[in-house]
Amino acid sequence: MTPGLVTASYIGATILFILALGGLSHPESSRRGNLYGMVGMGIALLSTIFGVVTANYPILIGGMAVGGSIGLVLARKVQMTQMPELVAILHSLVGLAAVLVGFANFMDPTATVDLSHSEKVIHQVETYLGILIGAVTFSGSVIAFGKLSAKISGKPLLLPGRHWLNLGLLLAAIWFGKLFLDQAATGAGIEPLLLMTVVALLFGIHMVMAIGGADMPVVVSMLNSYSGWAAAATGFMLSNDLLIVVGALVGSSGAILSYIMCRAMNRKFIAVIAGGFGTSGGTAAAATPGGEVVAISAEETAALLRAAKNVVIVPGYGMAVAQAQHTVNEITKALRGKGVNVRFGIHPVAGRMPGHMNVLLAEARVPYDIVLEMDEINGDFPNTDVSVVIGANDIVNPAAQEVPDSPIAGMPVLEVWKGETTIVLKRSMATGYAGVDNPLFYKENTRMLFGDAKESLDSVLKSLTSYHQM
Ligand code: NDP
Repeated sequence: MTPGLVTASYIGATILFILALGGLSHPESSRRGNLYGMVGMGIALLSTIFGVVTANYPILIGGMAVGGSIGLVLARKVQMTQMPELVAILHSLVGLAAVLVGFANFMDPTATVDLSHSEKVIHQVETYLGILIGAVTFSGSVIAFGKLSAKISGKPLLLPGRHWLNLGLLLAAIWFGKLFLDQAATGAGIEPLLLMTVVALLFGIHMVMAIGGADMPVVVSMLNSYSGWAAAATGFMLSNDLLIVVGALVGSSGAILSYIMCRAMNRKFIAVIAGGFGTSGGTAAAATPGGEVVAISAEETAALLRAAKNVVIVPGYGMAVAQAQHTVNEITKALRGKGVNVRFGIHPVAGRMPGHMNVLLAEARVPYDIVLEMDEINGDFPNTDVSVVIGANDIVNPAAQEVPDSPIAGMPVLEVWKGETTIVLKRSMATGYAGVDNPLFYKENTRMLFGDAKESLDSVLKSLTSYHQM
């Protein structure tokens, strides 16, 4: 492949990646967005393999075969509810690749042979930053994987003097950077590079360990952003324009997503990444709510729904676990067929990944125009006859407004309790991801429909349809 053709392919791939990001901004266009991304990545791979790499094809093909097979098996096996963990571990691989490429590039005597003195310094700075960001991304993502898959406790680890520890690690990374640049001028520098890598790995572990459960969405999108910047730094190191552009696209879109998540959680970005700034530290499941819990049956639920004019359905992580979205759609169709106004209220951090509920509802073919964002629906709860909370907990927890020292204090929630009746579908009285008790379950106008959400909703649907047929 000629260099001109490689450049043209890279430009084509870049355009496809930008179209992919545009497509992913709405469920309706997301499949198309994914397709653009896949074609763009195919072009990028082929033009790099045939136009840029000129030797070592057996190693390249062997590596791609092993990596590709592992990816294929994982993608086929993974459950929808395990997607966030998969994404986290994939981010860690991007970070690890940046670290390994950085070290390999530093140790390769031919990498800087044609460079002038100032170009060499720039190259060394790129190498240092690439390894630094890569190591933070790697260890942070491994911890995020552990927390999301419940292999590590979701509770924040709040070490005494943790902000000083972070500051110390930052200063150490800067100091080792200076040593590295001084020594690299004489052809040495591997020791400060290794020491900085250890510091960066510790920083990544400490940063994510200090994050409380409900703040995890911000961390996941932030690590996504870091993985992009790590790739961009590697692109500079390897003088690969496409890697720079793709890394910058991932880095900036991840940063925008982190900002959106922070706004949704009413958190300051710095507060989240520094771990616990401005919050109580997240130890309080404090004011354990008390009172009576009133259970309801599927038949009674169906009767309430039949009598309602306005119904709002609030799905959460439990709907994904139960895979209840198709039954939800059938119930929606049955109620709308009877003239009931059914709408959905979607919290920005519902489920375990951004857009989780939108994806499930789109899969079940729920019409987009009745799926509303939290801000669009929150004002309507006082006019709602029945709110149906399906496997959601943290996102409908009034403690966010009522308990000042709660770990979720200040987080905007769907105010379902303002409607006439709230029906909560879950299996037990267990807490949600943030580990906070929920006073909603004890409110006078709340009814609990206990059981697996799919089984409960199947019974509700049966009761609804058999009544209509009578
Ligand atoms: P929660 O985790 O707060 O609550 C889910 C509830 O679903 C649980 O209380 C559980 O109760 C119930 N449940 C689980 N399985 C079933 C089932 N089969 N049938 C019925 N109910 C079930 O989820 P939310 O969606 O309300 O909130 C999301 C939380 O996850 C937030 O804290 C958010 O910060 C966090 N998070 C979000 C991410 C994102 O990007 N969206 C990423 C990482 C974390 P029970 O066991 O009693 O059934």
